[in-house]
Order: sequence, then structure tokens, then C-alpha cells
Amino acid sequence: MAPLDMFEAMERTQLGKDMLELSERSPLDIITDTFENDRVRALMLYTTCMWGLNPKETGLGFFVPLLLDRGMNKAYCQGGSHKLAGALAREFVRNGGCILDSSQVNKISTQNGAVCGVELWEGRTLHSKVVISSLDPQTTFLDLVGTENLSGDLKDSVSGWEDDKWSYSTLHVASDEAPKYACGDPWVDQSFMTIAGFESMDQIIDHWENVIAGKLDLQAFGGHSTCQTLLDPHLSRVPGKHVSFFQSHAPYGIEGGWEQRGPEFQEAVLAKWQKAAPNMTAENRLMTALETPEDIEIRLPNMRRGSIKHGDYNPLQLGCFRPNQECSGTDTPIPGLYVCGASTYPGGLVLGGPGYLAANKVADDMGVARWWKPTPEMEKYRRTYLD
Ligand SMILES: Cc1cc2nc3c(=O)[nH]c(=O)nc-3n(C[C@H](O)[C@H](O)[C@H](O)COP(=O)(O)OP(=O)(O)OC[C@H]3O[C@@H](n4cnc5c(N)ncnc54)[C@H](O)[C@@H]3O)c2cc1C
Repeated sequence: MAPLDMFEAMERTQLGKDMLELSERSPLDIITDTFENDRVRALMLYTTCMWGLNPKETGLGFFVPLLLDRGMNKAYCQGGSHKLAGALAREFVRNGGCILDSSQVNKISTQNGAVCGVELWEGRTLHSKVVISSLDPQTTFLDLVGTENLSGDLKDSVSGWEDDKWSYSTLHVASDEAPKYACGDPWVDQSFMTIAGFESMDQIIDHWENVIAGKLDLQAFGGHSTCQTLLDPHLSRVPGKHVSFFQSHAPYGIEGGWEQRGPEFQEAVLAKWQKAAPNMTAENRLMTALETPEDIEIRLPNMRRGSIKHGDYNPLQLGCFRPNQECSGTDTPIPGLYVCGASTYPGGLVLGGPGYLAANKVADDMGVARWWKPTPEMEKYRRTYLD
């Protein structure tokens, strides 16, 4: 939906008007006005911006209540998030779909300007009138379709796509005991996410500004931790033992490179974690594994430079601009080629939104009857703002 149409639609309800008003303000501004205590503000700012909003940027203020709500109602997929993918795969196969694992697509083929299939890395060609790509725009359009098959406008929009402003470095720890935090509140030990290392909003902002500049100050960084086995004891192969992680925002292109800086970062995380949770000692730890932004890109090449959302959240890469104006409706200027995934509307993280919209669009275009139904909330949203 174009920004003007969206503006008009939001004007239909008071809630919509409130959201529009918020949009003009930065997360920092909204949090500072809404909360009084600096530590509470720090917590709220971290929760709001941890997925990639710039605390000082205006234009995306409507994300603040959305992401605060998400942070306060975090959800965990029993067994790990791959169980969600597995459940979706079962549903797909049950309805006649076929999944080829470990089949890297090397090329999206076109004939007379329209999609006609894909070429796989091991030499096979799959013929199809429709291809839906869930990869980042550079991979889909520049690498797989090829610049020679793109219009000038599309080539320009894709070339201007910006990666996430920061990535993550995650230290996973297997331990005898779950972390026990020193703050004197036993509920903290049970919490889904514990933020450690920051005492104020300013410290958080300094850390993020450092990261954006490609730096990591090991004296002044923080992050969030979760002990997954508290929620899901089956994750540990040895009954009664625990797995947890401590995750920090981190730059992809760090000075000195991750191979050299990784061990140093790991030591700093362990020291910070132990300061907050004194039982996270060397004796308690059974095993550690660090995943750096470079490792993320190796695991998932479409997460370029460790971009966990396949591209930055900024006003020019969200809404009808995600991934660009030509493709934000899921279809693209290349007949038969559709896009979904984190780089498309409504955005990254485990939302399911992009895939849902693409499935609807392709089913409608192909004249296939949908076997799925929207939730009552989606129906309400459609009736209120879209009809
Ligand atoms: C360390 C980390 C922590 C995160 N934490 C959270 C969290 O707590 N909550 C949350 O909501 N989100 C989190 N995310 C983000 C979330 O995982 C992503 O935004 C989400 O996975 C995007 O889903 P997607 O289906 O669009 O793409 P992806 O999950 O990136 O899937 C793309 C798939 O395409 C495959 N692929 C790549 N190239 C090709 C090719 N040429 N041919 C065929 N297949 C290809 C990849 O192997 C991959 O399987 C995290 C991400 C990371 C890396």
C-alpha cells in the first residue's frame, strides 16, 4: 500500500491515528517521555530496538508499541525454532507439496522475460511457471536472476539495498547449573530474557553506535541471555544439565577480524555474565560455542554480513519499500517471479508474514483455491483498514 493510502486508512480509527502520531517520533523520544526511571527506560529501549531500530531515527515510532509488546510476550518454540519449520513442512507435504533438501539454487531461469524454472547446483533444472524466492534481494535479483535480466529501476533499487546495521555474536554455554543472577530477585532466574551489562540508556546507545561504526568496546558492552533448558529441559542430552546463550549486538566487519577477536570477545562475555550471574564459573561450564556474524553468514549465505533480517529496518526499507516499491506486493516486474522472506513486507524475524502473503498472492494469481484461512485478527485488520 502506498504511504498516502496507508495514511488515509490509518485515519479511520483512533488507534490508527495514535500510531500515525507515534510514527513521527524516535524510539528514544517515546521511551524517554513514557518512562521516568533511567534503568526502566534502558530496559524498554533495549527491548524496542534490539532487532534493529535506530533509537534516534524518526519515522518508525509505530514500531515501539509493537516491539515492546513482542518483547513482553516473547514466545519460545518447544524443541527449538526448527520445529516450527518442520511443522510447516509437514503441512506442505500433507497438501501435496514436495521438498528437496540441500538443493542450492544457482540460477533463476527466464524465457522471453518470464520465469521458467531454476537451476540447481548439481546440474538439474526444475521447470516452473512460478518461482518464489525467500532470499535477500541481492541474491534473488543480482546473483540468481542476473543483472542483464533486470530493468534499470529494479537494478538500482536492489543495488541500493542496505544490510542490517548490526549483527549478533552469540556465546552458547552448556553448564551443570542454570545461571543464578545476583540481583536478589528469584524471578530473574526464571525470566525468558535477562539483559546484562548496561546501567543506563546512554550506555546502550554508546554500545550500538560503536557497533554501527565497526567497533566493539569490551569494557563497555552488554547483551541479553536466555537459559533455554529452563523452558525446555529436553534440549539437554544429559538430564538435569543446562544450555544457555548470551547474545550481543556486534559488527560484521570488526577491526582485526572475528577469527582473531572471537576468543577475546568470548572471555569478555564470560566475565560479564559471571559478574551478573556469579555461578557461571569455569567449574560450572561444561562446553562453550561462539557464533560470530561471520559464522552466521557461513551458515546462511542469504544473511549477508550477518544480517539476520536480510536487510536493515529503516524508513526506506519498510512497508511498501520492502524490498522495494516494485516488489513489495510479493509479485515482481518479472512475470512468474515472487518474493517473500525477511527482506519483504512486513519484515524479518520469525513472523511468517512474508510467506503467508506470498502464498495468498500466488494462489490467487494461479487460480488455486486456498486451503488455509486468515485468523480472526487478520480479518478484522482487513475489514478495518483495507476494504
Ligand atoms: C543468531 C540469530 C538469532 C536470531 N534470533 C531471533 C529471535 O530470537 N527471534 C526471531 O524472531 N528471529 C530471530 N532471528 C532472525 C530469524 O531467524 C530470521 O529473520 C528468519 O530466519 C528469516 O526467515 P526467512 O525464512 O526469511 O529466511 P532464512 O531463515 O534466512 O531462510 C532462508 C533459507 O534459504 C536457504 N538458502 C540460501 N541460499 C539458497 C540458495 N541459493 N538456494 C536454496 N536455498 C538457499 C538458506 O540455507 C535458508 O535455509 C535470529 C537470527 C539469527 C541468525
